[in-house]
Amino acid sequence: MVGHFQSILESEGIRTEVRNEGGSSLAGEVPFTQVFPELWVIEPEDTERAKQLIETYLAEDSRSSATLKPWTCPNCAETVTAELAECWNCGTPFPTP
Ligand SMILES: [Zn+2]
Repeated sequence: MVGHFQSILESEGIRTEVRNEGGSSLAGEVPFTQVFPELWVIEPEDTERAKQLIETYLAEDSRSSATLKPWTCPNCAETVTAELAECWNCGTPFPTP
């Protein structure tokens, strides 16, 4: 899980470091969040952006895990797997209730 967040942040150009809990800390580094104590953002100015990226990811993740069943496209009636946010056939977005 921590490694997954790290790859998300690094893909945005944010340098991170995974620490073991209780490891020594270096001056100038910022603890990332209290929820994920093992993932550190190296540059202090990246911290806010990193938090937003993680929050966005978590919001999308909770939405997709709530809808694991395949859904039926309201436009073309194709069955679309739960991982897709839009219809593979016609591009209609997942219908939000
Ligand atoms: Zn469709």
